[in-house]
Amino acid sequence: MYIIVLSGVCGASQLGNLMSKDNHLVALECGNGWRALIEPLVALANECDATITQIKEKFGLLRVYYDPDQMTNDRMEDAVDRAEGLSGVTCEMCGAPGKLMTSGHWLKTLCANDALQLGYKKRA
Ligand SMILES: [Zn+2]
Repeated sequence: MYIIVLSGVCGASQLGNLMSKDNHLVALECGNGWRALIEPLVALANECDATITQIKEKFGLLRVYYDPDQMTNDRMEDAVDRAEGLSGVTCEMCGAPGKLMTSGHWLKTLCANDALQLGYKKRA
């Protein structure tokens, strides 16, 4: 039931994998740092019969798309809003506190260490 298609341009980020409750593969195409934001959403989607259709990184932030069940729309909406908001202060690579950083035209939310390693800088 939970067909989860992930996409996004994540450059150097690692490919992680999550498994939903009923063993459908969730390929996570962003850094492992956001795993802790995404796992509760997968659990909630399973719990309230919502189907997450896409999880990706967009303009440095987490974006989650889902088909809400009418009865549980509010719960998913709140949880997705919260996770997307937290992605703006959580390093995509390691989960430490982070900020939105730039490298040329690219945006990523990173901690200082990962920003340095990946060649990203604080936004002016
Ligand atoms: Zn980091």
